[in-house]
Amino acid sequence: MLKFENTNRLTLCLITDQLTLLLYFKILSKSNNHKAGYVSVIGNPNVGKSTFLNKLMGHRLSIVSAKAQTTRHRILGILNHPNYQIIFSDTPGLINPKYNLQKKMMVSAKETLLDTDVMIYMVDCSKSVPYDKFFVDSLNDLDIPLLLLVNKIDLCNQTILEDIVIKWEKIMPKAKIYAISALTGFYCNQILQHIVELLPYSSAYFPKDQITDRPERFFVNETIRKHILNYYHREIPYAVEVLTEEFIEEPDIIRLRSIVYVERESQKGIVIGHKGKALTIIGTKARKDLERFFNKKIFLKINVKIAKNWRKDPTMLKKFGYS
Ligand code: GDP
Ligand code: MG
Repeated sequence: MLKFENTNRLTLCLITDQLTLLLYFKILSKSNNHKAGYVSVIGNPNVGKSTFLNKLMGHRLSIVSAKAQTTRHRILGILNHPNYQIIFSDTPGLINPKYNLQKKMMVSAKETLLDTDVMIYMVDCSKSVPYDKFFVDSLNDLDIPLLLLVNKIDLCNQTILEDIVIKWEKIMPKAKIYAISALTGFYCNQILQHIVELLPYSSAYFPKDQITDRPERFFVNETIRKHILNYYHREIPYAVEVLTEEFIEEPDIIRLRSIVYVERESQKGIVIGHKGKALTIIGTKARKDLERFFNKKIFLKINVKIAKNWRKDPTMLKKFGYS
């Protein structure tokens, strides 16, 4: 039987007709005052996306349960409040569809837009970078609210800022433009309020009570697991769990040691790949995500171990956070 709980929503989206389902949830959720939705945060590297998210999230970081996986969004963070839940994500295929070799990702980028509720595009006012017309046009074509955040205004004077705003008003006429400083926090809370205003009424997509006592480790596990899921598609993902045994934060780097648990020897071979190639790719992708998330250099060591029938073993299930 299909249970229409929000935790199942993403999985359901993958197997059911997406639009019908989204409609169903819109109707279902009108009855309460709670708002929830996906907010995509995109922009060139170094414009300040991570700084902005860290500012908004503070210590309110909470983590998605292992069961609520998605390959459609890269979840950067979830902001929970009694009256709302914001899922910040980016859209892997959207920023650089030209360079994306996997066709599948392009499809997924389009699909992603179906359930992105607010799009945030960030630019840096301290640097003049030529913009990609193809990309801007695709943003202009969207039917979802678009916020253009001109960041790092602590580095620009008023005249430069005004010029930039005028320039972007022409390039993105539909966008609401705001000047912020993610570093100092200037206008960041107001942006949060704007986002909440734009979100649809909906119950939470992810359980709000799953803030673990070690959210950072949990996030590392989830990130690695997500990349294994993405990499192998249907071959082995559900036989895989991840535990991070070491999380050592130093001033300039976070050192991580994580274990990928599989059920059988054959699965171990698949996860590691020929000469370790598969694991290296997964590790690199996970590390990059984690560096972005923690805004710090990451050293990540991954080992693969066999835990026979962990899915039936109550102790292991508890260890993985399933109980
Ligand atoms: P991302 O690649 O878009 O996630 O960018 P980051 O958040 O990693 O920021 C890149 C660099 O810009 C970091 O050194 C930040 O400290 C810096 N930065 C971000 N926002 C601001 C800001 O509002 N003002 C200033 N002066 N620096 C900022
Ligand atoms: Mg970043």
